Amino acid sequence: MTGARARLQRERREAAQRLDELRESFDDFVAASRDSNADDEHDPEGATIAYERARVVALTHQVREHLAQIDAAFERLDAGTYGRCETCGGAIGEARLEARPTAVRCITCAQNSRPGRARP
Ligand SMILES: [Zn+2]
Repeated sequence: MTGARARLQRERREAAQRLDELRESFDDFVAASRDSNADDEHDPEGATIAYERARVVALTHQVREHLAQIDAAFERLDAGTYGRCETCGGAIGEARLEARPTAVRCITCAQNSRPGRARP
């Protein structure tokens, strides 16, 4: 499992950076809504700001979730279970881990667990 730790560290760095960027744009929205009349819901600009803010909040939530997955992957690395499918216990595969360092299931199990893709 060489390189897994470095990969996860890079992934965590990128996620933390994204979180910083999102925090900055959120601050911008807060400042923008303070400048415009945010109480007026008929103000088209106010509606856009509210929409954009909701989008940033949703993205922030996603990145936080991703960070939690990365932390869980680090724990698996320490426990020696990293790269093992949590469903079938088989190897997840180096190529898949390279593309998705936080994967907890092998490609077969991941596809089987996806709704609408289950085998008959
Ligand atoms: Zn599996």
